[in-house]
Amino acid sequence: MQKLLSPEEIATQAGSEGNTNRLPAPRLFAERAARLRTLADGHAMVDFLRFAACLANAQQTWLDKHGTTARPDSAHLERCRQHGMPPLDAQGAELPADWQDSLKTLAADVAAHAPAGLQNAIAELADFPAERLDALARAILRCEEDLSNPLELALAPLIGAALQVQWTARAQALQVGDIPAGFEDSLCPACGSHPVASIVRIGDAGHGVRYAACSLCACEWHVTRIKCVPCHNTRDIAYQGLENAQGDPHPAVKAETCPECHSSLKIVSMEKDPLVEAFADDLATLALDMLVDETGFHRAGRNLFLFTP
Ligand SMILES: [Zn+2]
Ligand SMILES: [Zn+2]
Repeated sequence: MQKLLSPEEIATQAGSEGNTNRLPAPRLFAERAARLRTLADGHAMVDFLRFAACLANAQQTWLDKHGTTARPDSAHLERCRQHGMPPLDAQGAELPADWQDSLKTLAADVAAHAPAGLQNAIAELADFPAERLDALARAILRCEEDLSNPLELALAPLIGAALQVQWTARAQALQVGDIPAGFEDSLCPACGSHPVASIVRIGDAGHGVRYAACSLCACEWHVTRIKCVPCHNTRDIAYQGLENAQGDPHPAVKAETCPECHSSLKIVSMEKDPLVEAFADDLATLALDMLVDETGFHRAGRNLFLFTP
């Protein structure tokens, strides 16, 4: 029987491999779309998951056609490395010049398959003031959503999807060494955004090593297991799943709960199911968020396809 490793041993093993960050895979969105389609079959939220798959497919198409972007200049990268700052800062930096083009391309691609509310919003997109779209994008990047009207609320996942392709393309232009490593921060070391969930990987990423997956740029950074990602607490960490009398419908996904900060971040495990994908498996297990919420923990993961008034 294989000996279980302590969190410290796992961290040491990950550290000894040199770098503890992972750049987004070239076919990230296509893989996500495939996973979403698989998860949709027989799921209570089949329509929502199929639409999410359609949007992820459109994201891959955009990335393949327009996703070539320049690596930031070396002075900027050096400054970020020295100060442990994210080189693709999503909070303060300018919006990419063509982000609204990517929004409109994605909108055109998915319009025919979109739910009614989003279809109406897409129809109005051409007349939507550009400055207001920029303001909405900045608010989403800074987690300051103030999307009270139904049209803006309907557009939010599409804006999120457009920002994702922009930042993922920029992350793919980086080299692994450009991203500050080893901080185990609660925010993405490449762009400063919140994680969507954490993933325990197998294979070349280190067997049983956990990473937090960025909700925006899809980079992954190493985080020790059995440790709260938002507040770094290691005491009384517990796990909650979707078990019921019939068993666990989604055994590869658990919510890691922390009694210190009362937050909960999902952990999806390739050890239990090698096909898991953090973003897709998060969307397919919203029932787990509700269960965890009922026991007094708030959701720490952020998913840009999810907006609630
Ligand atoms: Zn990021
Ligand atoms: Zn905590």
